[in-house]
Amino acid sequence: MTHIGIIGAGITGVTTAYALNERGYEVTVFDQHRYAGMETSFANGEQLTASSAEVWNKLSTVFQGLRWMMRRDAPLRMNPMPSWHKYSWAAEFLLGIRNYRQNTIETVRLAIEARHHLFEIAERETIDFDLERRGVLLICKDKAGYNKASEVNKLLNEGGLDRRPVTSGEMRQIEPTLKGSYYGGFFTPSDSTGDVHKFTRGLADACVRHGVRFAYDTEIEKIVPKDSGYAIRWIPVSRDDGGANANEWRPIQVDGVVICAGCASRNFAAQLGDRVSVYPVKGYSITVFLSTPESQAAAPFVGIADDATKIVTSRLDRDRFRVAGTAEFSGFNRDIRHDRIQPLIDWTRQQFPNVATDRVVAWSGLRPMTPSMLPRVGPGGRFGVFYNTGHGHLGWTLATATAQRVADAIARVMPVTKHVAANPAVVSSL
Ligand SMILES: Cc1cc2nc3c(=O)[nH]c(=O)nc-3n(C[C@H](O)[C@H](O)[C@H](O)COP(=O)(O)OP(=O)(O)OC[C@H]3O[C@@H](n4cnc5c(N)ncnc54)[C@H](O)[C@@H]3O)c2cc1C
Repeated sequence: MTHIGIIGAGITGVTTAYALNERGYEVTVFDQHRYAGMETSFANGEQLTASSAEVWNKLSTVFQGLRWMMRRDAPLRMNPMPSWHKYSWAAEFLLGIRNYRQNTIETVRLAIEARHHLFEIAERETIDFDLERRGVLLICKDKAGYNKASEVNKLLNEGGLDRRPVTSGEMRQIEPTLKGSYYGGFFTPSDSTGDVHKFTRGLADACVRHGVRFAYDTEIEKIVPKDSGYAIRWIPVSRDDGGANANEWRPIQVDGVVICAGCASRNFAAQLGDRVSVYPVKGYSITVFLSTPESQAAAPFVGIADDATKIVTSRLDRDRFRVAGTAEFSGFNRDIRHDRIQPLIDWTRQQFPNVATDRVVAWSGLRPMTPSMLPRVGPGGRFGVFYNTGHGHLGWTLATATAQRVADAIARVMPVTKHVAANPAVVSSL
């Protein structure tokens, strides 16, 4: 039997587990949390959006970012404190400007491919994740923003996306709750929104039904190459024995390993002799609870993307409205800052004045971002090591496609030797 260990039970790890299980592998997924989807795949913008496929490696974005550095409430902020990780990443990001066009087109194609897998899996496994297939509308306040979006639109169309320009009148027909004044916008009917956490949890349950094992509450310390395969050294997250039983935590032996550890992937790659440049780009979201019929009627169902503020929204069923945005370069810091949350609340009040913001839950997450903004998918330097990580601002959108790609890459070099019978046990203590 060929046994693959997956590090991380976020959206990338769980979709990879599902794809490998489909191909007949024995799969164990490790995560330090008690459930799947508890880190960045928890409360993001929730848009399944090929229309946001533009990579950020562009000179105009860099200059805009520099101007924003002066403003505390700016959509993008970089903590100027020196850090080798941050500045080496930034240098590679600048080099990526030359690949802006091809990387944007590649990302759109991947996002379009991902939708087919996602909808198929959700239907097959009957996963309820508050999916809304009503499209995503980009709103532009002024002519300059509209013209900029027009240029991007050419690339998105070249990648095969059905995004089209719309007038402000058409925008109100598409989403009648819009109240502000707009120059125009772009609508992508094939984009959608849905709850990434619910999907990840639902897919993890499906994986268990099909025989995938999950080792939760399990922190992976080290992955040690052996003569054949890898020993995964772990420690339980809740160590109430003070470490006295450490000898009982025997390493788990696997034939191959897939790193899907989000922002921690860089460290695992370094242990395994690979360089995977992933920087934690922090973002924030608020979940507005729509407790009254008035609020429910005043919040949009179509996904909204605001070009000027870089804010995105999603309607999650009748009574939740997610608003997300901001990009902060300040390392592995997950603090929820009031001065970053307030602009999201203010924006909601301005755009949708009849939505009550009396019950709002704030969240922050770290986007695992590569300098090229393309995920790292495929084999590492050692036989049996693979990566499916670095999905940045689009992990929810892209994961079902990259899971197929990494599973195919594994199948090419490590064929399944024996199909493993389903074992529905969830391994919570190994
Ligand atoms: C504010 C915000 C808004 C966003 N909006 C969108 C959006 O609208 N659409 C979209 O497509 N994407 C969006 N994203 C991006 C998306 O959320 C991420 O790309 C995606 O969740 C990354 O998934 P992942 O599986 O790579 O990482 P994660 O979900 O972080 O999973 C990694 C897992 O690895 C585990 N792990 C790490 N180290 C260890 C260890 N040592 N031992 C055990 N386990 C370990 C972690 O516990 C974690 O569960 C947004 C992100 C943010 C922050």
